[in-house]
Amino acid sequence: MVKEKNWMKQLSLHYQKCRDLYPADRLMAVFDIDGTILDMRYMMLYVLRSYDQRHQTDFFKHLTIEDVTVHENQMADLLKTLVFPPTLRDEVMAWYVERRWSSHAIRESHRPFEGVMEVIRWFQMQPNTDVGLNTGRPETIRSDTLRSLNSLGNHYKVSFVNELLYMNSYGWDKSVHHSKQEGIRYFQNRGYRVFGFIDNEPENLLAVSECNPDGDVLLLHANTIFESKRKRLPSNSISGKTYDLTELIHEKTLPRHVQFVWHGVNDEVNLRQFVTSNVQWGEFDVRLDPMNAHVILRHDSFETTPLQEEEQFFLFEDALDSLLQFGKSIKLDLKEPGFLIENVLTLLRRRHVRSSDLWFNGQVDVLKQEGFRDLASAFPEAVIQCPIDFLTPMIIGVPEKAKETLALFHEWGVNRFSVGWETPGMHKLLNQLDEWNFDVNIYNVPDLESFLKAVLLQPKSITADFNFPKWHYFGRGSGQNWEHYEYSIR
Ligand SMILES: [Mg+2]
Repeated sequence: MVKEKNWMKQLSLHYQKCRDLYPADRLMAVFDIDGTILDMRYMMLYVLRSYDQRHQTDFFKHLTIEDVTVHENQMADLLKTLVFPPTLRDEVMAWYVERRWSSHAIRESHRPFEGVMEVIRWFQMQPNTDVGLNTGRPETIRSDTLRSLNSLGNHYKVSFVNELLYMNSYGWDKSVHHSKQEGIRYFQNRGYRVFGFIDNEPENLLAVSECNPDGDVLLLHANTIFESKRKRLPSNSISGKTYDLTELIHEKTLPRHVQFVWHGVNDEVNLRQFVTSNVQWGEFDVRLDPMNAHVILRHDSFETTPLQEEEQFFLFEDALDSLLQFGKSIKLDLKEPGFLIENVLTLLRRRHVRSSDLWFNGQVDVLKQEGFRDLASAFPEAVIQCPIDFLTPMIIGVPEKAKETLALFHEWGVNRFSVGWETPGMHKLLNQLDEWNFDVNIYNVPDLESFLKAVLLQPKSITADFNFPKWHYFGRGSGQNWEHYEYSIR
């Protein structure tokens, strides 16, 4: 059996090859818009629903995205399959044609495919690399197009500029193939070396393949919904359905300025994996044992998870020796105030741990002002962090008030704010904190895909379980559920 090539992996390899061959060139990935970046089914559904709304009918109430299986130019075919009075078909069709490209529909109904904005963001982040748009849409909707794509892209830190949008100067649905070829030449004439072209229409890929004699441009077919015949696909194109970031981005290519933290290193197995990994920071949950005699590593309190039969404590002191031996940096999640902090500080001082290798995390209601101030004065160069998910509604709703609260925490010594990946409104929160110039850590990142998405937002740091079998990392988080992947070699 011939193994199908993964298009995102091929794109990644081809980009790397071009980067190596032409180190000084400005590289460009060129994307089509409709059916490639945008899932046009949402627009189709939106316009049909607007008919219902206006006419107080419910013909399309139960229609779902999955029911839309045709190209946006083939609405008439879809209408034939739907149950509503056939005498109204022409009227509904006219409604659709009139509104499908209205500013309103463009603004309200366009949705990107899962993962595509992240792929664009990844290339926009690479040095000397840009993303161009090459669309069959006519010039008349240039400003609507830019406005809607930028508003969708904002969530992903993606932006599109006027000069890198090539539109069809022949008008609606006229000479599209010709215009696609001209689009590639337009970018080449601006000094770009186009290394990839992604389009959902086989005929557009064929047209571009004709002006790509050296094969520099990798032709990728977004196998979504398309109008032209599949057999028109050029033989050297590669099809794909999902924009899988885990095929595109590799560990070696992660940005160096984002700090990564291996979360929940509370047992010896996890510690062993962490110390031999490329990850610099490890996070440990520290608390006192029931006798208050030792600082131990344990996620759960003894109230929530009582002392287990045969439970052996893993002493922080023992872990510390390993960490120092391997040159790792240490993040401590302090679960208690007062005596625990004193003990931890004593242990760190005794081992002469450098301030810059330390990071403390604690809840505001646990450590309180005193706890943060003690940490900051003991280790002034350390990262001192508190989670601020509880402030999200305030940061979004009454930002100025929230800013005062954050400034107060900052005065106590807190110099990084931590935000959960799954906190509702996380993206908005992040943008706001960025604007205020606060350093942000993203935590609770469940898997490799989410980790890569978090990387693309470029916070100061990301804390994850490093339970990434694809990268042969088998971190087990704080271990309280003992959930981790089994090791297997494929
Ligand atoms: Mg298209």
